[in-house]
This record gives sequence, C-alpha cells and structure tokens, in this order.
Amino acid sequence: MLGPRVAAFEAAFAAYCGVGECVGVANGTDALEIALRALGCGPGDEVITVPNAGMYSTAAILAAGARPVLVDIEPGRMTMDPAGLALALRPATKAVIVTHLYGRLADLGSIANVLASRNIPVVEDCSQAHGAEFGGKKAGSFGAAGCFSFYPTKNLGSLGDAGAIVTHDRAIARSARELRQYGWEAKYHAARPGGRNSRLDEIQAAVLSLKLPRLDSWNAKRRAILGRLRQAHAGGRVLTPGLDDVAHLCVLRSRFRSALMAHLARDGIGSDIHYPIPDHRQPALRGVFASDLSLPQAEAAAAEVLSVPCFPELTAGEIDRICDSLARFALWASRQ
Ligand SMILES: *Cc1c(COP(=O)(O)O)cnc(C)c1O
Repeated sequence: MLGPRVAAFEAAFAAYCGVGECVGVANGTDALEIALRALGCGPGDEVITVPNAGMYSTAAILAAGARPVLVDIEPGRMTMDPAGLALALRPATKAVIVTHLYGRLADLGSIANVLASRNIPVVEDCSQAHGAEFGGKKAGSFGAAGCFSFYPTKNLGSLGDAGAIVTHDRAIARSARELRQYGWEAKYHAARPGGRNSRLDEIQAAVLSLKLPRLDSWNAKRRAILGRLRQAHAGGRVLTPGLDDVAHLCVLRSRFRSALMAHLARDGIGSDIHYPIPDHRQPALRGVFASDLSLPQAEAAAAEVLSVPCFPELTAGEIDRICDSLARFALWASRQ
C-alpha cells in the first residue's frame, strides 16, 4: 500500500541521495524498467548496458520492450568501459544503464564526456552502491535517474523485496509514480500507457526508514573489511577503498579460482561467483545477441571472479580467519 510510511521513506531517501524526488517501487528490476519507460524507452529503441552485472539491466531493457546492446567493461573496476560505449552509440540509442558494480562507482565522468554531444540519458543502477559518493555527490544523483534494490542482502536491505527510483527531474518522477500504479494519473484514470502494479510496501518502507540512518556506518565497516581481505589476497599493501566504494561485495580475482573456492571451503568459509555467465552467453537470451559477440574483458572476469564474505556483522575473529585463509592460499598461488 502507498501510505504514509512509503511517503516518509521516499522523502528521507531523496534527501540522503541529494535529489528532489524518490519513487518507491516493488524491487530493483522494476525500478530499472519503470525508469526506462519514464524516459520514453520502448520498441525500436536501443539501450546500452554491460554483460557482467547479473542480467538485471538486460532483463529490464527487454521488459521495457527495447533492445539491449552490450559493451565491454574496464578490467580494473569491472564497470562500463567508456571507450566501448563510444563505439556502441547509434542513432537508435535511447539510454545507457550504468551499473555501479560490487559497490564501486563506475567512471561516470568519462561516460558523461562520451555522451555529452548526444543528449542521451544515463540510468544508474545503484543496487550495489547505496551511499557511494564522489565529489560530494551520491550514487543515483549523477544521471537522469538512479535505481535501487532494497533486497535483504543489499547494503540497505528491507525484509523482503523493495526498490526505488531517485531523480532530480520532476517529470520523470511523475511518470514513474503513474507507471508504478497502473498508469493512473488520478485514481482509476489511466492516462499513461505501460503502467502496472509495482508498489513499495508500507512494512518494507518502515524498516528502510529505521535502517537508513545506520547505512553510512555500515558502509564504513564494509570498506574496512574489504581493505583487509584484498590485502590478504594480494599479499602486498592495498589501500583501503575510498568513499566511491561501499564494498557491497569483496570480489577477488584468481587464475586458480576453483582451487581457491575449495581451499576456502576446507577452512569453513563460504564463497560465491558474481557472476558466472555473461549476459550474452545466457541460454535464455539466445537470439537476443549475435552468437559471435565477443566481450573479452567481461568473459575473462566471469572466469576469475570470486566473492568472499564481506558484511558489517562479521566479527573480528571471523575477519582474521578469512584473511589467514586467503594469505595461505596466496602463498601457494605465488609458487605455481
Ligand atoms: C540486486 C540487483 C538488482 C535487482 O534487484 P531486485 O530487487 O532483485 O529486482 C539490479 N541490479 C543490481 C546491480 C543488483 O545487484
């Protein structure tokens, strides 16, 4: 139900992100789809995104009726390569979804430069980057719209599914408000095509309002943990991440990934792969992308990435144990 708790959370989260408008929706994928529709994306339009972000943006582009176009990632931060974006622009390009992956902001400055002459809007996928900031601006406040998931495992998580769109633009916010509720301009008056039911629930909104004041301190803990884990894995000195990284996941890369996974499992430490299959290799999307499409950096990353536990509730002893296990593996790997 869209009641007072949803309105209160929307106001609090808009203020936190430094934007004028926040529209609560049912989940993060809906946020992306509704944002695209609010920008006028639909059949005949192309929307550019990356192949290594778990298919969320590709699924939303398809749900909006547009065509996803994939560009490769930068090998370092594993987010959209601005040079690849420049090559992918076409007259049909209607928007770009930039995913801030694993907690780290993408290179929005270079991406904005590539798009400067074309007036193509950027939709930020901030579902792994709640509170990440650069130059005093928060994730979600750089582009035309910022989309968030508040799934329980996110840096700001509710008790179930929830999401939001933030924007400076009142017209985009108004469209999104109509689209999340059947296209209603006023109750029972559906003026806007493409509407559906995607409401943020009152209970989820109440939980999110309680948790929001603690987000920054949780992010600081995550950052400190990420710094230590990376250092243990790399061996040398690694700088603690800056404010542009909220350490949603600690993603390591290893040529010996399956050995590392097995080593961690023997030490009783869980790990997971985010994400094992690039979008253009997903069986469900056969026919959406050219079968010979090659995006080498994303493919290399999919073969090497491994996420190890990184969340604010880890105890000092648990962090020590994970670091110790990573350091022992690093020693072994350095001798191969
Ligand atoms: C979790 C996530 C989503 C999807 O959010 P849902 O609430 O599960 O729909 C979208 N993008 C990214 C980058 C995510 O991590």
